Amino acid sequence: MRLTILLFCSILLQQVIAQKTIAIKCGKLFNARTGNIASNQTIIVKGNRIESIGTDTKADSIIDLSDYFVLPGLIDCHTHVLLQADITSEDYDVQILKESIPYRTIRAVKSCNQSIQNGFTTIRDLGTEGAGFADVDLKKAINKGEMIGPRMFVSTLAINTTGHYPIKASDYAWELHLPKGLQEITGADEARKAVRSQIEHGADWIKIYADRSYYKTENGYRGLPNFTTEEINAIGDETIRSRKKLAAHAMTRDGIIAAINAGARSIEHGTGMDDECIKLMVSKGVFWCPTIFVNDYVAEGRAKAGSIINKQFIETLPAIFKKAINAGVKLAYGTDIGGYAWDMPQAKDFEYFVKWGLTPIQAIQTATITASQLLEQEGNIGEIKTGAFADIIAVKGDPTKDISLLQQVKWVMKDGVVYKTEKK
Ligand SMILES: [Zn+2]
Repeated sequence: MRLTILLFCSILLQQVIAQKTIAIKCGKLFNARTGNIASNQTIIVKGNRIESIGTDTKADSIIDLSDYFVLPGLIDCHTHVLLQADITSEDYDVQILKESIPYRTIRAVKSCNQSIQNGFTTIRDLGTEGAGFADVDLKKAINKGEMIGPRMFVSTLAINTTGHYPIKASDYAWELHLPKGLQEITGADEARKAVRSQIEHGADWIKIYADRSYYKTENGYRGLPNFTTEEINAIGDETIRSRKKLAAHAMTRDGIIAAINAGARSIEHGTGMDDECIKLMVSKGVFWCPTIFVNDYVAEGRAKAGSIINKQFIETLPAIFKKAINAGVKLAYGTDIGGYAWDMPQAKDFEYFVKWGLTPIQAIQTATITASQLLEQEGNIGEIKTGAFADIIAVKGDPTKDISLLQQVKWVMKDGVVYKTEKK
């Protein structure tokens, strides 16, 4: 009986908390769908959702952001919370070989918090790089309120073919059994099995590595396709028939075209794409996560280690980017953070977008409305509208005039809870 009363009281308490309303008074309010900016609007938040937007300020409590520019929580469609920067293969191997998965997960807790502090309230995390299904645990812990972190869409192990991903056996004594940064498959049956197993363990997305060994030719970039047609098509088929989505790391036409034909919904990096890839992406409505800053970040270190390809990409990417946006490729914001250190800016790619031809409003849309479309979460995230999750951020000044302001997010709410307020 006592237990029943206790249980009843606790349910009642939860309902009272859930029904509390917060009025957020916004100096400027960004509409991610239209690009319009409204003045002096108030968002009413009830529980973890947005109840209304207007001039009514009646609520249980008030948050005054009348000196701020308010936007939807940002979405990063390409992260690695379990990775802490890998300029060289040495950096990568050290993390996989010297840090246990529990230790890497502890570091990932910090990365998740950093994402929130950066104003990125949703992430699609594209591979644990040898840390098993720890991304599923992080997502679970965040959703249960055990730790602070963004809304996560996870892809668990990621898939490549045997022998084409670190840790490379040839870099070490061959008799050692070394861990791999992903799940290796050979043949269509193993491909299907990998997809099924990853989904069973909680993957929202399937991530593949479609090409490798990139090189520049007179007619653009080429690489080596990692999968046979049977293998990549088996992955795409199994993913789609399970109502999951396929994200493909693909740098050149050798990976990009095969991945799109297999049903990929997003091309990751795509740094060496050509006209035919652009055409195919537009006709099939495939999204592009260009992950620009990470390439600049690793280029010098990798050149010193003997690979100049990232430096070549820096020279050619602005023109490729302009061609792609002019052709109408859908851009979704993705950084590959984790590939570079989590204490470096997560909002850096916006600057490249604007430098290479997007308006600041269009740049912000890549990390809000367009990203929500890629994740099939339209109406839930990426937009401040009635019924959406209360994922809201604020900056000082106008980011549609100075896009770098998104690197200094002052205030963050996720799911109706405030996680950051500007220190006065
Ligand atoms: Zn990545």
